Amino acid sequence: MNNSLQLHTALMLIGGKLVESESGLWLDSVDPATEELIGRVPAGTAADVHNAFLAAEAAQPAWAALTPAARGQYLLAVARAMRERADEILRLEVRDTGNTITKMKGDVLQAAKSLEFFAGLGSEIKGESVPASTDNLHVSIREPYGVVGRIVPFNHPVKFASNAMAAPLMAGNTVIIKPPEQSSLSAGILAEICQQLLPPGVVNIVTGNGMPVGDAIARHPGIKRIAFTGSVPTGMAIQRAAAEVCVKAITLELGGKNPLIVLPDMDPDEIAQVAVSAMNFAWQGQSCGSASRLLVHESLHDAVLAKVVERVAALRLGDPLDGDSQMGPMNSKRHYDRVRGMIQKGVDEGARLMTGGGRPEGARFEKGYWLQPTVFADVRPDMTIGREEIFGPVLSVFKWRDEQEAIDIANSTDYGLTASIWTHDIKTAFRMAKAVRSGYVWVNGASGHFYGTAFGGMKNSGLGREEGLDELLSYTEVKTLHIRLT
Ligand code: NAD
Repeated sequence: MNNSLQLHTALMLIGGKLVESESGLWLDSVDPATEELIGRVPAGTAADVHNAFLAAEAAQPAWAALTPAARGQYLLAVARAMRERADEILRLEVRDTGNTITKMKGDVLQAAKSLEFFAGLGSEIKGESVPASTDNLHVSIREPYGVVGRIVPFNHPVKFASNAMAAPLMAGNTVIIKPPEQSSLSAGILAEICQQLLPPGVVNIVTGNGMPVGDAIARHPGIKRIAFTGSVPTGMAIQRAAAEVCVKAITLELGGKNPLIVLPDMDPDEIAQVAVSAMNFAWQGQSCGSASRLLVHESLHDAVLAKVVERVAALRLGDPLDGDSQMGPMNSKRHYDRVRGMIQKGVDEGARLMTGGGRPEGARFEKGYWLQPTVFADVRPDMTIGREEIFGPVLSVFKWRDEQEAIDIANSTDYGLTASIWTHDIKTAFRMAKAVRSGYVWVNGASGHFYGTAFGGMKNSGLGREEGLDELLSYTEVKTLHIRLT
């Protein structure tokens, strides 16, 4: 195990200053692979959020007065700095999250890429003219909301924190970011970069627990636009809290229970490889887009199941900083306990445990939040593990007989984030892609995100779309002007 990292203290960024919380309190950061203390972050409060709001509010008019191209240059400078410090960010993030280093490299690059993508979209912040009468010019323009609040989850901390600023800033807003309390250390580096490169108050980062920091953002009457990424219950809590205070524009990127549907014309070897990769074991399944439900036609079911089990049982668990590790530990003790509880429910409700289900053996795994990669067969939609998001390394395999049954199973949960459909038959592919109630659907693909296309969920998986023009425009309000010409 690499113990070379010093104890790391991250600070918050408020009004251009790197600061502790006004509370003077701190939250510990623990390496989930070893349970060692690796750092600490300020335990922010509602007063810190209010201070961040005042700074963001003061900075916003001057920021919005810049041309979009000038704002874009700032974003590009932040992206460059992130690339320069990529290795430092990567190693800290891997130790703080337990996610494996090979996959996390992509996260750090993606953090820079989202800034670069939105930096180039400034000229798209445009309105339209409408021929609604002959004696007026009717035009719409887009204006920023003002101060935007963004609350992010633990699974991709730096990627989400960086995404969190890109579109709102480009649209002329200033931002308050609330990182995840379990894995906030990389946000400290982002705070340093923003402090060096952006005007004070344009980006503010307030660390701490959901209650009080996230809740204070939800309830702050001056923060009229909030974007949240996280679980369904928290998304609903934010909507409730905000509605008690005022009318707010809230978008939600929430959980998934994503189906990967396999038609009879596929090759079991290829599908086994795809299914294991799409489950995101390298993040211990802690990815909203994990294809955690594998729906296989009965003609292929047994062959696919056997090959999937073989591959999953062979996954190498180990030090997340070791490039050969294919799976690390769960992010936190609380989450580890929750996932173990879900696995137990699977067993109790009669699903067939094919591999995994417990802690891996060996001295290496005595400390830390380690769980074996797990596969259940004979899963049904009425079982807890068949319908609720586990957000862990647990794949549920279903068998189906006809196309309608596959669609019914796919649509049987309250989630509707992604779906993946595998067939060589183009008509079947289109039919099924239209029939699944999911916001992001791959045919003969899985997991990949394509910047410029709209990502987001249907049903309880969310509200709004990100990663494309929709996201940028969602940080603007439309104002309509009627200019009399006669
Ligand atoms: P979570 O909902 O527990 O926490 C997310 C964030 O909300 C954290 O920063 C937390 O501190 C904050 N929070 C907690 N309580 C709050 C409250 N009452 N008010 C305001 N903020 C509060 O989620 P998590 O466990 O960190 O992340 C896992 C979830 O995120 C999964 O459901 C996963 O599917 C989802 N997720 C969705 C996407 C997506 O793009 N759709 C991406 C990643 C993760």
